[in-house]
Amino acid sequence: MISNFDRDIFLKIFNVYSPTSREYDFQQKISQMFLELGYEGCVDACGNFYTHCPKDKPTLLLMAHADHVALQVKEITAEGFLKFRKIGGIDIHSFYGQEVVVLHNGQQIPGIIGRNPQDVNESESGFTINTNSMWIDIGATSKEMAKKYVDINDFIVFKSRHINLLNEYIATPSADDKTGIYCLYKIAEKISEIRNELPFNVCFALSSQEEIGCRGSKALAMRFHPEIAIIIDTEYASDFPGGKNNICLGKGPVLTDNADNNPTLVKIARELNVQHQYAYSSSFCGCTDAESFITNSPDTSVLGIGIPVRNMHSAKEVLSTADLTYTIELVYTFIQKVAE
Ligand SMILES: [Zn+2]
Repeated sequence: MISNFDRDIFLKIFNVYSPTSREYDFQQKISQMFLELGYEGCVDACGNFYTHCPKDKPTLLLMAHADHVALQVKEITAEGFLKFRKIGGIDIHSFYGQEVVVLHNGQQIPGIIGRNPQDVNESESGFTINTNSMWIDIGATSKEMAKKYVDINDFIVFKSRHINLLNEYIATPSADDKTGIYCLYKIAEKISEIRNELPFNVCFALSSQEEIGCRGSKALAMRFHPEIAIIIDTEYASDFPGGKNNICLGKGPVLTDNADNNPTLVKIARELNVQHQYAYSSSFCGCTDAESFITNSPDTSVLGIGIPVRNMHSAKEVLSTADLTYTIELVYTFIQKVAE
């Protein structure tokens, strides 16, 4: 399939950092992008962005999460290295030698994650890698020098850099869940001219703090109480050597019957004749924004849609641009079907 991929929009969304709990700058940019499509919105105190939703008709809410996993400076050593902690569930085995950016007062300070290379040899004798055995090297030669550029509590992100692979695959940090945001934006663009004719209001939200306990989406569930919520997030691909191979890149978004998804909505989505994968999900319930609606808005029917991603929560997650096109098509067709 030749994907109908909009690289300009992809770059606009992927090139702005939004470490979890510090989504504000990204949300302001998204707010402007949605406004250009004719959707007025705002950013709340939790860091959620949402478009305004009149109450004259039922509400269909489309959502993805704005935040991504990150690191945070917890100490600056006498030699000028940065000790750090993880914010969200990141696989530390992907850290060594990675290029990162320290976000400090609007500036971006480049750094490299280091550790003692000889630790590798010790792994056979029981050495386990953890964040205490690593540091970030910004090139400073003393604490005093480092303090001129960074401070404790600064957020650290993987350097935004996109690599085009074969088969229209892209390797990039924060595919979780910027892929979902890309799809949300393209759906907003696609329905902007027909939305006033629909028997329900279609609203859009980008939740904050998903990676640290789905905190923003709980507030959104209570604010909107939508009749239907469609949550677009990523799903673990398993088409790698030794993997279960039940969720593959390039075969479309994943639909699943788990505790969060409304069975009727899953059935409607599966019958739309749009390329997708029906699979069992990585978790039976919880761990995503879908759960926030189940527990905070009991009259909402939820449909979670998963975009397959390899190397989840690493510096280079791998996605298929074809899956983005399929996801947009699936949701757009779903909206039309529900409107009948
Ligand atoms: Zn996610």
